[in-house]
Amino acid sequence: MIPRNFIYFSPSSEKEALELLNEYKSDARILAGGMSLIPLMKMRLVSPSYLIDINKVESLSYIKEEKNRLRIGALTRYYEIEKSSTLKKLLPIMNEAATWVGDPQVRNMGTIGGSLSHADPSGDFGSVILALNGQIITSSLNGQRTIKADDFFVDSFTTALNANEMLKEIVIDLPEGMNGGAYVKLERKAGDFAIVAVAAQLSIDSKGNCNYAGIGLTSVGPTNLKAKKAESFLLGKQLNERTIDETAEIAASEARPIDDPLRGSAEYKRAMVKVLTKRALNLALKRARGV
Ligand SMILES: Cc1cc2nc3c(=O)[nH]c(=O)nc-3n(C[C@H](O)[C@H](O)[C@H](O)COP(=O)(O)OP(=O)(O)OC[C@H]3O[C@@H](n4cnc5c(N)ncnc54)[C@H](O)[C@@H]3O)c2cc1C
Repeated sequence: MIPRNFIYFSPSSEKEALELLNEYKSDARILAGGMSLIPLMKMRLVSPSYLIDINKVESLSYIKEEKNRLRIGALTRYYEIEKSSTLKKLLPIMNEAATWVGDPQVRNMGTIGGSLSHADPSGDFGSVILALNGQIITSSLNGQRTIKADDFFVDSFTTALNANEMLKEIVIDLPEGMNGGAYVKLERKAGDFAIVAVAAQLSIDSKGNCNYAGIGLTSVGPTNLKAKKAESFLLGKQLNERTIDETAEIAASEARPIDDPLRGSAEYKRAMVKVLTKRALNLALKRARGV
């Protein structure tokens, strides 16, 4: 299939890209890894008049550790996240999630900024960033904005980005003390989108009480979902079989799955949210305890 005609730009700086975006606004689309945009254009589901290819904007690709924070540039590719030793040391849930995305071709091209901006409720990284309480930094000619991940996903394939804005980076406060995370995914076949997946990030104090709980759900709602009730239930509690079981039950009640002929009924998916939340929390706890 062949896309409709478009005018192609390949800016080499962020400023140049923003100027183009400011000029053409919703008639333009940013091209990052192209893993979602190109198929959509070929199917003519999306037909931008102007394509702003940011692949030459090298300043958008980085994983930087700062005091208590991590900054990840929008153009950072999945394979860089998968292989990053900084992430392995500080936030290994990110490396783990990257291994679950598509296949090596998709991971070699696809970017974290593209994934979040695309806002597919089946996207793996949306849930991880929700579980980590990440912040999205946007940029435009008017300056930057900081948006909590939970406010960034507005609806399926819809974000809080304005037409003249691009996603610049993701900022994550680093977890303190004993902490661990896990991303677990149920899929029909290797490399597929999730039937259901769960991201869990935990911190515990010396007595084993939970002082941070982040839970993100994939493929069970109009957007990636933050299981807020389950998170607050766990805060301050001892992590044991009973509390983990109850938390998983609450997370399942927060899911909003729909029946779909490919990946199963809503009932099945809700049941899987419970199973996978338990699995993710147990794994995160084990990692937090360093066992
Ligand atoms: C075969 C296959 C399997 C896949 N499997 C998975 C999977 O298992 N899990 C998963 O999560 N995803 C999967 N994907 C989807 C893919 O990972 C992401 O959707 C894709 O990587 C999006 O990132 P990209 O850099 O390719 O973005 P693009 O396709 O270039 O762009 C996607 C959208 O985001 C916008 N955009 C991109 N960057 C920015 C920016 N910085 N600021 C503002 N807007 C921006 C574009 O304009 C476009 O609307 C799969 C894709 C394929 C083709």
